[in-house]
Amino acid sequence: MASEQTAADTFALLSDESRVDILRAIAREQYEQRLSNSGFTPLSFSDIYERVAIDNTSKLSYHLGELNGIYLEKSDDGYSFTHAGEQIVRFILAENFRQPVDVGTIETEGACLYCEETSLVAELDDQYFVVTCSACDRPVTGYIVTPAQARSYSGAALLESVKRKQAVEFGMVQEGICPECAGRVRTEVLDVDEQPVPEEVPVSYFTLDQCEACLRQYSGPLTYSVAYRTPSVAFHWEHGVDVMERGWWELHCYLVEERWSAERVATDPAEYRVVLRYEDDELRVFLDGNARIVRTERVRGRSVE
Ligand SMILES: [Zn+2]
Ligand SMILES: [Zn+2]
Repeated sequence: MASEQTAADTFALLSDESRVDILRAIAREQYEQRLSNSGFTPLSFSDIYERVAIDNTSKLSYHLGELNGIYLEKSDDGYSFTHAGEQIVRFILAENFRQPVDVGTIETEGACLYCEETSLVAELDDQYFVVTCSACDRPVTGYIVTPAQARSYSGAALLESVKRKQAVEFGMVQEGICPECAGRVRTEVLDVDEQPVPEEVPVSYFTLDQCEACLRQYSGPLTYSVAYRTPSVAFHWEHGVDVMERGWWELHCYLVEERWSAERVATDPAEYRVVLRYEDDELRVFLDGNARIVRTERVRGRSVE
């Protein structure tokens, strides 16, 4: 039974190139069906047989039998993907198992939290897109990119894709949903004293966000835990700023200029107030000890709304 399969058994099933071909062929056919507007239907045995280089039906039957219940689901109409099949075939088609291509050095602007320099450079370091300060040579921020992402975009377009992905994913993390696996993320607010952070960094509180299911971890200044959430997106949008297209290294200037700030306003239970300022207007977001939004206030000029 599928539920008794171990991870090793599951991956061992893919050690045969014919089975990988079957998964690819089904995905390609589904893609064609959607393009031709005919809607998705499961693929029959003969449909699959026509599309793979397997020389007899008993071999195909054997391989489909092996994949069924793990990567494929068989119904009266034919074969379709399970969740594992869907995930693995996208991984295979996007070739995310390969090393990313060299993207070179990309110049960008933002702010360094250590020395306040605004000219930065971005490079790929294995799976990380690392933005480094041109003046002090320290890493300003880093974010995971995929090999498909590095292959699909270059230069400014790659920068844009990293920013947008980071904004969307960090927004999900702050809503408690893991961008990797959709499992539950638990967030804790930590005092800067509990973090190995150099003194010159103008941040007092951090979040530590951990997925209970896949163990993915995220961390960042508490102010950024608010940046990509609805009250901030709306506040900035009203001021003509799409905050969702700003990467972390472009948010650092707000901390350096003290336009964005965070402080603890209550203990037991802990409550934090993050203030995002734009010209004379302020958005105040009150958060609990798990960085959940408790309430918000808008201040226009000097009057609280
Ligand atoms: Zn610097
Ligand atoms: Zn996860």
